Amino acid sequence: MLIKKAKVQGFCFGVAITVKKAEEAIETRDDVTTLGHVVHNPQMVSSLASRGLKNATSVDDVESGTLFVRAHGLPIDVLEKAKEKNLTVIDATCPMVTKIHVQAEKLKGEGYKIVVVGDPHHPEVKGTLSHVPGAWCIETVEEVETLPRASRVGVVVQSTYSKARFLDIVKALTAKYYEVRAVNTICTDTNNRQSEAVTLSKEVEVMVVVGGKTSANTKHLAELAEMNGARAYHIEGPGELQAGWFAGVHAAGLMSGASTPGWLVDEVAARMEALSSQAV
Ligand code: SF4
Repeated sequence: MLIKKAKVQGFCFGVAITVKKAEEAIETRDDVTTLGHVVHNPQMVSSLASRGLKNATSVDDVESGTLFVRAHGLPIDVLEKAKEKNLTVIDATCPMVTKIHVQAEKLKGEGYKIVVVGDPHHPEVKGTLSHVPGAWCIETVEEVETLPRASRVGVVVQSTYSKARFLDIVKALTAKYYEVRAVNTICTDTNNRQSEAVTLSKEVEVMVVVGGKTSANTKHLAELAEMNGARAYHIEGPGELQAGWFAGVHAAGLMSGASTPGWLVDEVAARMEALSSQAV
């Protein structure tokens, strides 16, 4: 069986920077807490935890020490609370996420009613919404119907959202509103991975996508692979692979989400090689 690996593998640059900053922080301090996991990758999460990184669900649970802001960023009120509590803040928000905040604020300043496209429960989207109070947040094209009246709407999108779905939403907004100004804030890394998922899926029968089960961008890659003709499997590590998936398969693809370390992808590739010889 031929294994076709996507060209873009391993951490995106935003996650790579965040992980590096987290590692530097825990090397020098023993009081570092993050709100939610630094990356959507269980292996990396336990490695950081074993080296001393604490995890809390709310800033209310962090009494003192250092608050580490992961790549998704944090809502403004949470950062203000951290300041009130005299916490030291290490900000590792991805520059591409900061760019979304800037674009949304700019559009609001120009008088547009803001629409944030994305999952309203996702930490990144919560952070973006905090920069533009009163913004509408929608996740699907069907929700465009439910939006109130306005004349001018300005649109930004979650960094890891599906490009195809974003374009559908912009089209629907354009049909509904007099003026629509949409900024495609899907990050470059997500764009590249999604384009590759489309091309590669047409060349293989099976696509293995490695990434945390809660990772939005990994889920979109698996969806894209299915939509483009490959049987897709979203796994977190080599232990989940099954020989039966590769029975009679001539070519299988291998991709990873933005928060999957390169070494894990290599382990999956090696296991796929081993299983494909058993599956003939
Ligand atoms: S997926 Fe994009 S926005 Fe998210 S951390 Fe990576 S580069 Fe930044």
